[in-house]
Amino acid sequence: MACPYRSLYNIECCLRKGAINKMINVAILGSGGLGQNMALLIEQKKDFKLVGICDRSGYLFNESGIAGITIKQSKTIDEIKGSHISSNSIFEMISNHKEKINAIFIALPNLPNEFIPNVAKEIIKTGYKGVIVDALKRTRAVEMVKNLDTDFKAHNILYLTGCGATPGLLTTAAALAAQSFVEVLDVTITFGVGINNWETYKATIREDIAHLEGFNPEIVAKMTDKEIVEELNKRNGILELHHMEHADDIMLELAGVCTRDRVTTGGIVDTKNPKKPISTNVKVTGRTFEGKISTHQFVLGDETTMAANVNGPILGFMKSGMWLYSLGVRGTLTSAEIMPHFGVAKENYLDIQGKQSRDFACKIPTS
Ligand code: NAD
Repeated sequence: MACPYRSLYNIECCLRKGAINKMINVAILGSGGLGQNMALLIEQKKDFKLVGICDRSGYLFNESGIAGITIKQSKTIDEIKGSHISSNSIFEMISNHKEKINAIFIALPNLPNEFIPNVAKEIIKTGYKGVIVDALKRTRAVEMVKNLDTDFKAHNILYLTGCGATPGLLTTAAALAAQSFVEVLDVTITFGVGINNWETYKATIREDIAHLEGFNPEIVAKMTDKEIVEELNKRNGILELHHMEHADDIMLELAGVCTRDRVTTGGIVDTKNPKKPISTNVKVTGRTFEGKISTHQFVLGDETTMAANVNGPILGFMKSGMWLYSLGVRGTLTSAEIMPHFGVAKENYLDIQGKQSRDFACKIPTS
């Protein structure tokens, strides 16, 4: 008689293989710094095809695929032959073509905080079924998306949030690094970003300014471009960010790694020089089962740009999302929740550790 576990294993392997080998038709919402570079990246990947992209001016849809360079060379989508001019491009593109889209990348500004959570609600209304991935940054924004879990489940959507660089690559690296420890004592994320010109990543820079003293997302959402330039000039183009309200904290808390007060995020952004002012890294400090305190550090290569470190993980999580979707997973998950899960320590683990080391020491012959 065939082993039942073996056949279950085979079904899972088939599902996994099917999901992994299937061409993923991607739609990108937003054609700014990240959206345009994502179009270039997708063109270099075997199993992704860009079928749709939109911005404030309109949308372009082509089931046969859209060339990355066409997007990169166009200032706005309405300049491109075959595009549709629309002031409601997100809703129109998804409503008209939802059957042909497997996954959506949201590369929109998130100002104010509820903008992307509201876009997610609009996507639900289109009747779209599939995977959605974002690169959200703020803790409050991730909380809002998390609160839509039941709606996504009811409408056959799997929404993966916080899948960029930070939160995203560095948060999930922290979740992985945590596995060496019984208790995680501190996670410190420090990022360095260098760009030629703030205009290539307007939303990102605006959202960074929103973290500075005296600013918030509501204030920055109302500032004109001229006011943003004045603010940057006052600081010689450099933004120094400390103790940011960044979703790495809630994501690591939800993943059971540590409480949010043990997570700190900060960084330096140079808006006038493409060279990174400091190397981006995450340090994870914890206590091992043997009672040693140690720190793991994961440092990104200085040659990797923000676009490489956000868009690469976005595609990776999108592919994992397609696999999870094929296994029936729906709702909202953060990128950290789909990493190896962290087993929380017992409240009295230090007592156990002490007893273990005493008992062990007793067993070592003294002469
Ligand atoms: P950007 O300003 O360069 O581009 C935004 C695009 O969205 C533009 O094409 C604009 O036309 C379009 N857009 C705005 N409102 C729209 C609407 N209502 N309908 C259709 N299109 C609309 O943005 P960016 O700098 O590429 O950043 C995109 C997002 O990525 C931001 O939310 C930013 O915070 C996030 N981000 C995350 C990370 C991370 O590591 N997690 C890093 C960088 C950026």
